Amino acid sequence: MSFLLKAGLVHTGTREIENGWVHVRNGVIVEVGSGPPPEAGEVVDEPNCVAMPGLVNAHDHMYQWATRGYVPDGTLFEWLRALYPVWARIDADTVRVAARAAMARLLLCGCTLSTDHHYVFPHGRSGIIEALVETARELGLRFHPCRGSMSLGESQGGLPPDSVVEEHDAILADTEDVIGRYHNPKPGSMCRVVVAPCSPFSVTPELMRDSASLARRHRVRLHTHLAETLDEERFCLEKFGRRPVELMEDLGWIGDDVWYAHGIHLNDAEVERVAEARTGIAHCPSSNMRLGAGACRVGDLLRAGARVGLGVDGSASNEDANLAMEAHQALLLARVRATSPTALDARAAWRLATQGGAECLGREDCGTLEPGKCADIACFRVDDLAHAGIEDLLAGLALAPPSRAQTVVVNGRPVVRAGRLLTADEEKISREVAAASRRLARGD
Ligand SMILES: [Zn+2]
Repeated sequence: MSFLLKAGLVHTGTREIENGWVHVRNGVIVEVGSGPPPEAGEVVDEPNCVAMPGLVNAHDHMYQWATRGYVPDGTLFEWLRALYPVWARIDADTVRVAARAAMARLLLCGCTLSTDHHYVFPHGRSGIIEALVETARELGLRFHPCRGSMSLGESQGGLPPDSVVEEHDAILADTEDVIGRYHNPKPGSMCRVVVAPCSPFSVTPELMRDSASLARRHRVRLHTHLAETLDEERFCLEKFGRRPVELMEDLGWIGDDVWYAHGIHLNDAEVERVAEARTGIAHCPSSNMRLGAGACRVGDLLRAGARVGLGVDGSASNEDANLAMEAHQALLLARVRATSPTALDARAAWRLATQGGAECLGREDCGTLEPGKCADIACFRVDDLAHAGIEDLLAGLALAPPSRAQTVVVNGRPVVRAGRLLTADEEKISREVAAASRRLARGD
């Protein structure tokens, strides 16, 4: 099966090609060029679009689509304490409906590869990871599910109520089972599993350490929340006598197979350490601003050589899943933090949203449009009211982020055309998630 995508401008990640094309065979890019294109079985022509590598979402909690708009003005800990009892009511059906909404929105906004960090497994509710994997398959999204976990309940000094934490051994056994069932390490893989205990304030140090050993035994990646708020830093100092990064280092949670969500409150030595260890950071600017968590030192991390990607984070602390918007927010927030308009430019912001995320997820086969890479492509219109006539198209798309993509291709297959999802019914998803959200809010 060969496929050809033509666009007014093709941004490969390193080159910008006017009137360019991307030629794909069996889900893999075979050639990128301009001028007369090769013959192909299916051709999509987008002369009024910028085509770029599909965006990569390096941090999310998709089940949260069913609990948006709670505690709109709370800190992370206030917001979590209010939401844990609501999340304790989720089951596989709620997760499926919420994930359909989250994945639909991601795809419609140009995201082609996403992780999902799922850490709420209420007692006796099975089938949650299955629901996530099946939904990604159904919608056509390249997917890295994280088997998350919480084991440090309130009675042991943790933040979450005991009703939402699981037993140590059961977590490890289920995580191993999920890896065995769904992890595909091959190039071009559509599903890779990640081991992901939730955070220092909801997981015991023993579970952190054992999870790292399990992940390394199976050669899968590790992900957790780290250095998100000063409340977390105080918690780690009081309970463990360690700063968050020191604690992770003690527990074997640093290295090129690890990426952290947020990484905001890092001191100079920790910025250097994270960069030198090739540990990734998933920067989630909208969520960080919504919760007043702080501003990640993106400029410093990049200068130190760190891997930095972008995440939308769960939609209960973002209320959306538009990665182009995160590129926009990252660009502006870096400039506010540095009080300098040169702190992060548009091309660097797009790099975070593509290659940076692919590096966090360990996907050498994703993140750029080059021969041999996965054919994951996002096309954004530049002739609409928001963008028509704008100078410097790539800067324009970052400064005025598109609300949705025109065409999105995953694994060489179009899943969005003319701004509409081809793999699911958007209106039906909206109705179902509204009903699920109402049920969760009422508690029945
Ligand atoms: Zn998160």
